[in-house]
Amino acid sequence: MAEAVLETRDLRKAFGALQATDDVSISLRAGEIHAIIGPNGAGKSTLIAQISGALAPDAGQVVLDGRDVTGLPVQARARAGLARTFQISQLAMEDTVLQNVALGALGAQGRPFGMFRPVLRDRAIRDRAEAALERVGLSGQRAMRAAELSHGERRKLEVAVALTLEPRAFVMDEPMAGLGTEGSVQLTGFLDGLRAQAPILLVEHDMDAVFALADRVSVLVYGRVIASGTVGEIRRDKAVREAYLGD
Ligand code: ADP
Ligand code: MG
Repeated sequence: MAEAVLETRDLRKAFGALQATDDVSISLRAGEIHAIIGPNGAGKSTLIAQISGALAPDAGQVVLDGRDVTGLPVQARARAGLARTFQISQLAMEDTVLQNVALGALGAQGRPFGMFRPVLRDRAIRDRAEAALERVGLSGQRAMRAAELSHGERRKLEVAVALTLEPRAFVMDEPMAGLGTEGSVQLTGFLDGLRAQAPILLVEHDMDAVFALADRVSVLVYGRVIASGTVGEIRRDKAVREAYLGD
């Protein structure tokens, strides 16, 4: 079995009396899409926040490439290769597509954000940004403002920003949210290709996307992983059907 690129070990987080994540241990292997599904309030976003570093766990570890990153803040984790995409307003909407990616590339070098216009005069940064846009198929939109992109294109732009960090793993919380049927189908195809660049831990409510993409599915209910397996195994699992898939 391939070694885990990303792993959580017994992650726990309580909000008062509520145990939002309860000893969650999951892994993400090279080349795979591992979907996390479960009802509202199951603890999926809490899990993602603990992995990205936005939320400190009460106990447990996050391990990236065999290295314990639990103590690292969000930015350091991102530079270590953990790409948390699809966060609200990560993009500078009034800046161009290329500017947005160039700023990401600047951040990848550990340099401060904020030197907006001159960033594109840096040849190395510009090349890196152009390469990332090429990889997501947005080169033709480089001069458009981020605000002018469709929802689906914005998601791709966010991935391009993440690609400048040469991520080891992607972590996504409901990327299909807010997209129509056509947008979801397009993004599904895009994510299918993206797994070759880095594996994806995918929290998603859209079951069409999950069933089309996931190599493995883990089901979270009340903060606990109640089942884990292939799409076929999960669809046949009686406890999962009762707790979540609803039949
Ligand atoms: P999901 O993403 O699976 O819908 P969440 O991780 O957002 O679930 O939430 C899990 C539980 O933790 C829910 O009951 C939610 O109300 C609670 N919760 C999440 N964040 C907080 C917070 N910052 N303070 C208190 N309760 C929270
Ligand atoms: Mg959530």
